[in-house]
Amino acid sequence: MIIYNINEAPFIKEMCDITLKLWEKGWAERNGGNISYLLREEEVAPYLDTQKVISEVALPMPFPELKNKIFMVSGSGKYFRNVIKNPADTLIILKISEDGKHYQQLWGLVNGGCPTSELASHLKCHATRLKHDPEHRVILHTHANATIAMTFAHDLDEKKFSKTLWQQITECLVVFPEGVGIVPWMVAGTIDLGLASAAKMEYCRIVIWAHHGIMGAGSNFDDAFGLVETVDKAADIYLRSAAVGIKQSITSAELRALADAFNVTPRDGIL
Ligand SMILES: [Zn+2]
Repeated sequence: MIIYNINEAPFIKEMCDITLKLWEKGWAERNGGNISYLLREEEVAPYLDTQKVISEVALPMPFPELKNKIFMVSGSGKYFRNVIKNPADTLIILKISEDGKHYQQLWGLVNGGCPTSELASHLKCHATRLKHDPEHRVILHTHANATIAMTFAHDLDEKKFSKTLWQQITECLVVFPEGVGIVPWMVAGTIDLGLASAAKMEYCRIVIWAHHGIMGAGSNFDDAFGLVETVDKAADIYLRSAAVGIKQSITSAELRALADAFNVTPRDGIL
């Protein structure tokens, strides 16, 4: 039974907050970036009749493992800075059908449109992260400036890239001991990019798309945003120090000592 106005729902407010923050960071120019948030039936039900389907659209590939799951997703071509002004125009709440082959629109995109062109990437990444973490809920993709710049200036070997990031701020290794995944430049919005990203998400929560942006996974917006923020700050520090000449850095032995002290296990083969 619907009890409350959906504009007051915590999940809508969280989405408004994060999209505005991403735009304020300068990471979401124009319609850049996309987000999806796995919602629980019980948190949606007071605001929305989850059995009332507005329309049903075939997915580019089946997602049987996500059947009946509900997601809030940013709309294709919508600007993050406008989400807070009109969530019902810029977002969609959708449910994956029982057979996993369709999405069913439950709410949003009141002026037409469709979910992000990266929907398949998001769903594939959700399915992968849920296998490893039952608390997983958020996938966000944004055009984080320093991270993109670093993909032009640094070797794209992901183990070398991860080590360089860990060396920029002492806590990086503690925040993402699994390092980052990197996919080479690929055409945006394709199934291939989604499959490549999801393959990386088998072992890490951050996937960098060379010369494009970053994808972060998390159990909530703070978690996913915090990961992306940490990686981008490390990339920014790398670029600043590389520009003036790097004279010293944190050693592998020091990073191992840090991992021991904080009881985290760095990904094999990096240190
Ligand atoms: Zn993008």
